[in-house]
Amino acid sequence: MDTSCHGHTDSSASSSHVARQSSSSSLEEDDLLFGDLVDLPVEITERRPTCSRCCRPEKVCLCPFLPPHPLDVSTTLYIVQHPAEESRVLRTVPLLAACLAPGKCRVLVGRRFSEEKNPELAAVCRDSRTLILYPGSGAQNLEELNEDFSKTEHNVIIIDGTWSQAKDMFLRNSLLHLPKQVQLNSAPSSQYVIRTQPTNMCLSTLECAAVTLSIMEKKQTIIEVLLRPLQALCSFQLQHGAQVHHSKEHLLKNGMYDKPMPKNKRKIKRMEKLITNQKI
Ligand SMILES: [Zn+2]
Repeated sequence: MDTSCHGHTDSSASSSHVARQSSSSSLEEDDLLFGDLVDLPVEITERRPTCSRCCRPEKVCLCPFLPPHPLDVSTTLYIVQHPAEESRVLRTVPLLAACLAPGKCRVLVGRRFSEEKNPELAAVCRDSRTLILYPGSGAQNLEELNEDFSKTEHNVIIIDGTWSQAKDMFLRNSLLHLPKQVQLNSAPSSQYVIRTQPTNMCLSTLECAAVTLSIMEKKQTIIEVLLRPLQALCSFQLQHGAQVHHSKEHLLKNGMYDKPMPKNKRKIKRMEKLITNQKI
């Protein structure tokens, strides 16, 4: 997997600086300023130094919260990632990869996967030691599987995207129907409060991976180690002005949901089910 983050540039800092300057100057000065800008080489955009391990800007590097050595796990994770997820600011997969040994967290970006285009994924899907984590009526509870995962190395496929993206990707990729489908029964409530989740049980990819690995590897401490950088990320974001995003479920239950109620009857039914905790 390519974990390098070099080459990402962030020009927001420098461009906002320019905007402030130009608003406080006269038209003539504006012309001068832009004249100066035109003369500048294109590559002048400031490069925010990025930590090569956690892929975060150096100022908010999360490495102190990562385990000193990669976690020793026998399971290999395959993260099938929706392309929109790759460009999100608050991504949890790089943190997950940084906690595990190289090769233990492989990321495949795309919406559609096929035998021809993705022979590696196809081979993994056909492997009898592969499980796919996706909840539904066809899924068995991972906690209740009567398998000794310690005997052979297993693979777990996790779909990374919003709830609806993941649903679309699962339904439309027949390759993903080949492995045994599993779901988490005993997952804790999400700690990842920055992104709004449709229900409290809807966990971030990192949280899903943490719970899954703790079950596969029979090591409860894995959850704590993997969630430490996520907690640090959340508290950092909250300290810097991000608001706590309670799940829609939480907002509805506590009468805090301030968006207009949907007109669509099916949507209203779904929200009612959210409140009463039924499966949607
Ligand atoms: Zn770092």
